Amino acid sequence: MRLWLQNIIACPICKTHPLQLVVLKWGEADSSIEADKLTKFFLNDLEKKIISPTSIQSIIVVDDDKLLNQKIEKLKVLFNEFKIDYDPDSLIKKIGSDTEFIVDVMYRVNVKNGLLKCPKCKRWFPIGSSIDGIPEMLPDNLRDKIKDEKFIALWLDKLPDELKRDIRLDY
Ligand SMILES: [Zn+2]
Repeated sequence: MRLWLQNIIACPICKTHPLQLVVLKWGEADSSIEADKLTKFFLNDLEKKIISPTSIQSIIVVDDDKLLNQKIEKLKVLFNEFKIDYDPDSLIKKIGSDTEFIVDVMYRVNVKNGLLKCPKCKRWFPIGSSIDGIPEMLPDNLRDKIKDEKFIALWLDKLPDELKRDIRLDY
């Protein structure tokens, strides 16, 4: 899943947005789309306020890829002063020459394995549990408990304590 998706994805149960993104393992960056096109997408997303600064601030990275982690930290700093109801024009002005950097990270970097966690109902949804990079946003009755257990067991040691406490396997 590209980082960008976090801007639009909501909890399928309680509809809360944004969801907290926990990156367990980075995937391959996608360089198939031209930078100019992605920049257009980004500016369009900003105008429509699809880009959510609060989503970006909630990203937690567990993977130890230093370079990518530094990029996420920089992304957070760039969006730091903006809240949900931002003014697109002043945001564009502020990020200026960092636009290219933001586009590169948000639209090309992929999460191979991760979690999306709802801050309200505390439900968690795996990314890459069945297919690398694909988030599974299933309602409780369609969740596969055994698969959930296996997924969590695989990553449990790496999860932040706060997250460990909230993880339920009995949906
Ligand atoms: Zn929820």
